[in-house]
Amino acid sequence: MGIHDELLAAWRDFNAGAISPAQLKAVSSGFGIYQQRDDAVMMRIRRTGGVVTLGDLEAIRGILAKYAIPYAHITTRQAIQLHGVAPTQVDACLADCEAAGFRFRGGGGNTFRNVLVNPNSGLHPDTAFDVFPYARALADAFYSFDAAYALPRKIKIAFVDRAADRLLAAIQDLGFVAKTQDGRRCFEVWFAGGIGNRPRVAYRLFDALPAEECIRVAMAVTDLFNDHGDRAHRATARLRFLRASLGEERLTALFREYYAQADAKGYPRCPEEALTPEAYPVTALPEGVPPAEGFEDWKAVAADPLADGTFAVRLFVPFGNLTPEQLGRLCVFLRRHGLTRLQLHQGQDLILPRVHPQCLTALHAALLADFPDLDLTLRSYVGHIPTCIGNTVCKIGAADSPRIGERLARVLDAYLPANTPERRALARLLTTEVRISGCPNSCTAHPAAKFGFQCRKLGGQDVLIPFTPATAEPPTLGEPQTAPIAVDDLPRCLLAALGLGAGA
Ligand code: SF4
Repeated sequence: MGIHDELLAAWRDFNAGAISPAQLKAVSSGFGIYQQRDDAVMMRIRRTGGVVTLGDLEAIRGILAKYAIPYAHITTRQAIQLHGVAPTQVDACLADCEAAGFRFRGGGGNTFRNVLVNPNSGLHPDTAFDVFPYARALADAFYSFDAAYALPRKIKIAFVDRAADRLLAAIQDLGFVAKTQDGRRCFEVWFAGGIGNRPRVAYRLFDALPAEECIRVAMAVTDLFNDHGDRAHRATARLRFLRASLGEERLTALFREYYAQADAKGYPRCPEEALTPEAYPVTALPEGVPPAEGFEDWKAVAADPLADGTFAVRLFVPFGNLTPEQLGRLCVFLRRHGLTRLQLHQGQDLILPRVHPQCLTALHAALLADFPDLDLTLRSYVGHIPTCIGNTVCKIGAADSPRIGERLARVLDAYLPANTPERRALARLLTTEVRISGCPNSCTAHPAAKFGFQCRKLGGQDVLIPFTPATAEPPTLGEPQTAPIAVDDLPRCLLAALGLGAGA
């Protein structure tokens, strides 16, 4: 039986009126294919570590155009969602996605989810080593590890290549932080954290696990979770609740029992051949182009210096959404300039790795010239305050978080005009550390932000619960504040917190 047979049968039965939306969801959610609030369909394409090639983007553009899908959305978990697929076209669209090499299994439901990798792994001045090959090897091994697709609840895994990004690893069910010890590649392993309902920072399971063991550890955790997770109570089924009921000592001892069976169960180590470093393209941008207006503002927020003297450049995608026409233009742009390997950023943006410093002015000027109607360079904050997709698409959401973010952005534009030192100083913070989630599921990871907000309905009104600031070291999460604020009060509260006066 093929991986998608049951899924395709469920959609066929649903379109024929033979099963209910709930019966459909029981099958389809495990593939990250959901009914939207408007009854169109959202299909989530997994991308390990958010890595996408130009060929992937061209294939997605073709699928959007062929099925008249309104837009693709870059998610906060480094996946790409097709929004607005007609229910009757799910099977054909899935076949085209499969032909392009895209995976859906584990896209949602009680499964092993898309594996995160911090941006620019292996390229930072303070990198331990590139973790992407390990994430890819783990995702490949798990694709056919059936135990990972009928779990009590989801398992989220992340890899980071440096201690500075430890917080990202510490808010997962399982997080791997690269380090070297005695010249050997190792991972510090963080276990049983999470940011949804009753968020909790993970605890340290290993100080220095030999790096090739990461798949075996993840499989042991998966088997443990299958056997001991709480299948009767969905709201308290995640691993962090098992930790709460057993205590860390007993949970660690239990893990060691499962891990001791790794050889007997045939859990694989990371194969050497899977650890080939990623190849990066040579860009074809001209050098020495005079800077266009706004270049310094843009460079301060969009360009990160890398260890080899090049820059990683963030393309700010408004709301994380690209129509078929916009994606087509972007593909032409990327091909023209030799930008063939990209990474999806958790801020719902794209990253171009390794742009030569002499080419930055040309890149900025070309983005302005080729996309006058699509703000990829952060000329405005609109569409660039991280929010989840909100309740116009998501059936769980309490509020329209993108519109709340948009209203905040318009106020920020007025307070922080272009080409001012204040804007330059705050743009990076505002596009990374302000996060608004539409419900406690926390898809923007707002409890791990400096300025996190969660939407709620209170007396029929939309309100926001502000969170106290998270800290990176030691990793700690923000706590919900008891007093919610009115949505209209958000700009004033944030501006006051930023020391910018009473606000609007
Ligand atoms: S945070 Fe809630 S509303 Fe927003 S996308 Fe996630 S589940 Fe939906």
